[in-house]
Amino acid sequence: MIFLTVSTRGGSLTLPSGDQIDYTVSERDIQHPRLEIAPDGTVRIIVPPGQSGPPLINEETGWIRSELEDQRQRRRDIQHRYGNVEEAFTLWGKSYTLDIQSGSKRIDVDSERVSVRAPGAQAAMGLLHESLRQALREAVKTIASPFCDRLQVSYETLAIRSQRTKWASCSGGDTLNFNIRCAFLPFAHLRYLVAHEVAHLLEATHNERFWKLVRTMVPDAKSRRDDLQGFWYALHHNPHWQKILDV
Ligand SMILES: [Zn+2]
Repeated sequence: MIFLTVSTRGGSLTLPSGDQIDYTVSERDIQHPRLEIAPDGTVRIIVPPGQSGPPLINEETGWIRSELEDQRQRRRDIQHRYGNVEEAFTLWGKSYTLDIQSGSKRIDVDSERVSVRAPGAQAAMGLLHESLRQALREAVKTIASPFCDRLQVSYETLAIRSQRTKWASCSGGDTLNFNIRCAFLPFAHLRYLVAHEVAHLLEATHNERFWKLVRTMVPDAKSRRDDLQGFWYALHHNPHWQKILDV
């Protein structure tokens, strides 16, 4: 039996397992309703116009529960190995205290603290967002340079954006796209992502040749890749990052 707190836009419910879940319902011009689980653990129900969402949850409780458990395990594993990355302000996989104060725009970083000065809280998040974008661009360029030399390839454009679904991609055969969220990751994992996208400049699909190329650049590619989903969930539970991404 499931207890519902229903509103047309969302609510929360308790699964038979005792898990409390939050859900949202949105209408879209589609034929069949579907469920998605957001990286922050929110269940999204997407329904055709005029349909209600909660019955779909009742039918899929087993799937929801196992997906949420998978998210929890991956988050635990990342926190076990990399520390308190969900609560502290995390930059390149390392936890910092984020100190925001009013003043003229300036960012200082020492071994424990990222200090941001700006005329207001919103401006501080904007400044941090732009600084992370620039720092990530420099980091990707620096990592990509020897990889491009080794494979004798080059890229035309490097784009840093905020993307909802991917850490990185390669488009049009010569554009590398990196998500600003990559600044959350340790450099070792960023190195893997850069190697992956540089390898796409030579090989569009994930075939055997592609993975061989990636491994020549990053021998521990598999273990880095295995961590990425856990970092993705951790990032979406990090309150500082949610504010930066809201800018
Ligand atoms: Zn790929």
